[in-house]
Amino acid sequence: MNVREKVLDLLFPPKCPFCRKILDDPRAPVCPDCRPRLPWLEGKAGERSIDFTDGCFSPLAYRDAVAGDRKLVMDLQGRPTARFMFFNGLSYGRKNGEITYLENPYIQENLAFSFQVQVAANEYYPGIARKIYLKAYRYNMHFKPKTLLIEAGAQTNTVDEMRNAVTYLADVLDTVLTK
Ligand SMILES: [Zn+2]
Repeated sequence: MNVREKVLDLLFPPKCPFCRKILDDPRAPVCPDCRPRLPWLEGKAGERSIDFTDGCFSPLAYRDAVAGDRKLVMDLQGRPTARFMFFNGLSYGRKNGEITYLENPYIQENLAFSFQVQVAANEYYPGIARKIYLKAYRYNMHFKPKTLLIEAGAQTNTVDEMRNAVTYLADVLDTVLTK
């Protein structure tokens, strides 16, 4: 850590994203008080089996949000369809560089796969795939190569818009993986 980073840490100490308390361990993603209270998905609830891999895992049941007046929706073949976004954890922070305790041998493969699916999605259904979001942490994307973390729509979408989106997403995944 260089002097500039130390000064920045002093002026703007890293905070727990949930309770906003200053973190004792600046590299910890959440504070020790919040950690046990978060809605972790345990056992089967955290597993999702799909046919080309034997499981991927989401550690936290959480609700992300966009601004209340923002709707991630488009008309696709006459059906209102939620737009989706791929999300990648890089185990790498702009400030502190590589996050060694979040080892992930599949970062390159995951990035390549999300890019491949994004390109295919927008080729077949222009506009359905939003940007690829890159974040510092790992999000359990280290268990399997070609892990996709997908944010489908947001809290402003309806269930029908979401259902429509996943049928197109399934079609794109089928195209990328089998053709
Ligand atoms: Zn906290």
